[in-house]
Amino acid sequence: MLIVGAGGLGCPAALYLAASGLGRLTLADGDTVDLTNLQRQILYRAESVGAPKVEAARGTLAGVNPEVRVVALNKRLGAEDLSRAVSAADVVLDCSDNFATRHAVNRACVLNRKALVSGAAIRFDAQLMVFDLTKRDAPCYACLFPEDAEVEEVQCATMGVLAPLTGVVGAMQAMEAIKLLTGIGDPASGRLMVIDAKRGEWRSMKVSKDPACSVCNPGTQP
Ligand SMILES: [Zn+2]
Repeated sequence: MLIVGAGGLGCPAALYLAASGLGRLTLADGDTVDLTNLQRQILYRAESVGAPKVEAARGTLAGVNPEVRVVALNKRLGAEDLSRAVSAADVVLDCSDNFATRHAVNRACVLNRKALVSGAAIRFDAQLMVFDLTKRDAPCYACLFPEDAEVEEVQCATMGVLAPLTGVVGAMQAMEAIKLLTGIGDPASGRLMVIDAKRGEWRSMKVSKDPACSVCNPGTQP
């Protein structure tokens, strides 16, 4: 599996996947551990501050399950690296915190026809989406959030997030990834799950493929 982003979502996702006995886990993140990360990024300890996140993560994961092979990519992946990493994975978890990366990961998953489990959390709100792009009729991330849409970029680093909420979403990403990998149950494909932590409410809505989406429809690709 490939996990893009070793932050609030990537940490719990990686921890559960490693503990579950995943064969190979590739973690991609170019950041170093900051003291403020410890509030939610549960793979890191106070002594990890200043260290590359993926290296600190690999150390913690090896302590949980030494048999899992963790590949640490200590950089923000460009399009080429991303495509290579995605093509080598069975399932991709997008645990990043910005739209540019989410769209780049989505494009790579569409091109390589890989299942994508996408998560996002900010303040008291979170989203989880599964795009089973191995199937031609599945929607992609851009069907839901078009690449050219004007969006307000808000990040946990500046806006804050309720720590356990990132744990909930990251764990659910790991769960959906395991379901996709093993073929157990019905993956939450084509659905957007929205969590309102303040009200304690979960909602789920169906997402259809957008026939005008410029990313996942071959005829509309530039
Ligand atoms: Zn699409």
